[in-house]
Amino acid sequence: MASLPKAGPDQAFQEHVADGRLWLQYCDDCGEAVFMPRILCPHCSSLSLEWRPVSGRGTVHTLTVLHRRSRPGEPEKINHAIVLVDLDEGPRMMSHLPGTAPEDIRIGMRVRARFEGEDGARAVVFDREEGAA
Ligand SMILES: [Zn+2]
Repeated sequence: MASLPKAGPDQAFQEHVADGRLWLQYCDDCGEAVFMPRILCPHCSSLSLEWRPVSGRGTVHTLTVLHRRSRPGEPEKINHAIVLVDLDEGPRMMSHLPGTAPEDIRIGMRVRARFEGEDGARAVVFDREEGAA
């Protein structure tokens, strides 16, 4: 496996994302997927965590819409939704759906991860999965 010897788990996750890869830690002992990145398995306290690619598919667990107050002269309020996505592999991830209007986001909606941003400054965001309820 490609190792990142000196990097902490958070940094390793970010380096994978920077390369356009959504990888999560998996526990060698209990088999659970782990997120946020950490040293110790939260399920069984094992130290044997290894990085593996994941599907990037998941379901919206909950969302919070942030309303930005418009100032005089500004056309309209900008709403921004923060979502918690339950990945198919188990872990829950906080992100947003930049391509979907907040009022169109539904709990239970199927979503798919993609990477937004430039090389070296990418972030994981989600899109509504086409053809899914
Ligand atoms: Zn474990």
